[in-house]
Amino acid sequence: MTALPGWPIMRGMDARTRITINDAATASSDSERAPKTLSPEERTGALIDPFGRAITYLRISVTDRCDFRCRYCMAEQPEFLPKKEVLTLEEIDAVASAFVRLGVRKIRLTGGEPLVRRDIMWLIRRLARHMQSAHLRELTLTTNGSQLARYAKELVAAGVRRVNVSLDTLDAEKFHFVTRRGDLKRVLAGLDAAQEAGLRVKINTVAVKALNEDEIPDIVRWAHSRGFDISLIETMPMGDTGEERAHQYLPLSLVRDRLEKELGWRLERDDLNTGGPSRYWRVRETGGRLGFITPLSAHFCDDCNRVRLTATGKLYLCLGQNEDADLRAVVRGHAPEDVDAALERTIRAAVAKKPQGHEFAISSDEIRGQMPRTMNVTGG
Ligand code: SAM
Ligand code: SF4
Repeated sequence: MTALPGWPIMRGMDARTRITINDAATASSDSERAPKTLSPEERTGALIDPFGRAITYLRISVTDRCDFRCRYCMAEQPEFLPKKEVLTLEEIDAVASAFVRLGVRKIRLTGGEPLVRRDIMWLIRRLARHMQSAHLRELTLTTNGSQLARYAKELVAAGVRRVNVSLDTLDAEKFHFVTRRGDLKRVLAGLDAAQEAGLRVKINTVAVKALNEDEIPDIVRWAHSRGFDISLIETMPMGDTGEERAHQYLPLSLVRDRLEKELGWRLERDDLNTGGPSRYWRVRETGGRLGFITPLSAHFCDDCNRVRLTATGKLYLCLGQNEDADLRAVVRGHAPEDVDAALERTIRAAVAKKPQGHEFAISSDEIRGQMPRTMNVTGG
């Protein structure tokens, strides 16, 4: 592992960085949840998993490729999925449309970097037809922002109303270090373009030990001063990135403690815009909204409403489990007139086996639940 000057390689974690399941000091957060409840009419025929959770949210990794190589996300020289195995945009549309017919109300395009997929705007415009017919309530994406200056206006014209943009530091040198190749100026220009085009922006910041932990209050202040919501995220043990996960892991309970006890910030529950129990906090001092995404905390899974499709058509029922269904085989193995029905059957059968939750845990002496695939494959 290479060290940034001023970023010591941590040889172990101190006792404060241990996390316990159900850590009461943090709460998982996602203000952009699809509604967790469906109307009785909508529930009929909807995708309900064995734990009674309605599946209303699909995340699609449209490509595993990316113009960055973030250290917690992928290896420096990743082996990308062979192109012939990747779903065509038409195939993604067929799968996504089957989900919409089955009650999915929100789709998020992710990756890899969704905006580096060739002709991505074709897919976005195509999926947007489901919003015009009022079946889909939201089409959005998570992006590293590098291509936003080019696409912001087109996204708005297609019907996208908000985007999540990942940004872990406002220091250009650190940014280049953590992304292994990114240009901070370009991302900031992308954010300007997004705002000018009228997109609502939420910043996603992975809290990385010794990299950005001291900068977090400044990043939150900056985001709120720009009118952006911001979510802090704990690193998850997704695949081998060539970096020591335990060295990167920073529990958000610690971050939150520092904000409240050392800086005296007052965090108040914010119910606005959430589809159920609040997971967001309003910072009195900045006036903005702050989320804590704590995947290592068990209660994250209780109201899970999402499933994930990879670029090669694997449907993962849980980010932290390996059960999958091969939807590419369904799309490519049936006559065109039979594909829709076959997809619906396979999706229903897969959701009927959705696991209760993940088993991620990181401590100084143990990493549990590590997945074989990196985050760019499953889609964050
Ligand atoms: N390239 C886009 C981006 O960076 O926003 C979309 C894909 S990226 C995999 C989606 C999100 O996952 C990003 O916010 C990223 O910071 C986060 N992420 C990647 N690897 C992670 C990990 N191991 N643990 C937690 N979050 C991770
Ligand atoms: Fe690319 Fe996003 Fe992964 Fe960074 S987090 S390497 S931008 S996919």
